[in-house]
Amino acid sequence: MTITFTTEPAVPLPAEKRAALLEAPAFGEVFTDHMISIDWDRDRGWHDARLHPYGPLVLDPSAQVFHYGQEVFEGMKAYRRPDGTVVTFRPYANAARLNRSCARMAMPELPEETFVEALELLVTTDRDWVPDRPGHSLYLRPFMIATQHTIGFYGPSAAYRFMVIASPAASYFKAGAKPLTVWLSQDYTRAAPGGTGEAKCGGNYAGTLVAQAQAREKGCDQVVWLDSAERRWVDEMGTSNLFFVYGERLVTPELSGTLLAGVTRDSVLALAADLGYQAEEGRISMEQWRADAESGVLTEVFSCGTSSMVTPVGFVRSVDGDWTIGGGVPGPVTSRLREELSGIQAGSRPDPFGWVHKIA
Ligand SMILES: *Cc1c(COP(=O)(O)O)cnc(C)c1O
Repeated sequence: MTITFTTEPAVPLPAEKRAALLEAPAFGEVFTDHMISIDWDRDRGWHDARLHPYGPLVLDPSAQVFHYGQEVFEGMKAYRRPDGTVVTFRPYANAARLNRSCARMAMPELPEETFVEALELLVTTDRDWVPDRPGHSLYLRPFMIATQHTIGFYGPSAAYRFMVIASPAASYFKAGAKPLTVWLSQDYTRAAPGGTGEAKCGGNYAGTLVAQAQAREKGCDQVVWLDSAERRWVDEMGTSNLFFVYGERLVTPELSGTLLAGVTRDSVLALAADLGYQAEEGRISMEQWRADAESGVLTEVFSCGTSSMVTPVGFVRSVDGDWTIGGGVPGPVTSRLREELSGIQAGSRPDPFGWVHKIA
């Protein structure tokens, strides 16, 4: 299969307007000049790959995505380094995960090379949109939707579109790394064994917004998900993974099938081991979380994901009461891992794992 990208350039936003938008990027609301689209159907496979001006889609109201929810997405970032080069982080890991999500959702896989080429083409074309301030980045959102026109049968769509859009993002930490307060959800669950918890699909988000709203009502920043079978074991948090720090030992919930395999999670496991910590996958129950926080053997908890990087969790709220971790202040292991990881991305630290992928 060969895919040739055709280029249909946009009239770029005037430089001074772009500069004003990049001053204080409204993440997720402002997008770069271009986007990528690639179509798939049963007869032709992937075809008609194009870079074109960012803009609304024309889709038939019967397109399957609107009715039966076949949609998967990815999230990653491009960073501008002090020397002007633009890099991404582990794009092949995102390409592979997109394909695992596609397999689960009965959608066609996209060649990993094409995924990375699409990102490279979009970022290179819109490179002036990659912010240059430390901590700022260009967020990349690859996604795929089912486009076949039919509501008439129950089966996978016969047509799909893969797209990539990009939105400049400010540093997640406007006021430094303030520890999060999290809500332990016991009314709702996110994913069941055999379900779609391991796929990065829109449906997982739609089903959990009500719990996020509940967390906010309780004065919390994020929801923590427990397993749906026993309602005891910690799975993950909102849109990121969790790590539990016992002094020099780090534990993250194992990939049980109901939580997302974060690229950041995987990177933290490798990086922590490289820095001399004992880093392992395991199981943490909510009772143990509380007891260990109260006894003080659990010294830190942090969440990790592309958007928030590594963020301390300081306070837990649940129907059974509240507790604090490590005095509610950012701990040294969390801070160290955050610095090391952002240093690798920014180029101020060596990249022993070859995670950085130069784009432009
Ligand atoms: C995307 C996501 C994560 C984090 O994955 P990264 O690859 O580290 O960004 C964690 N949990 C959920 C539910 C997610 O959607």
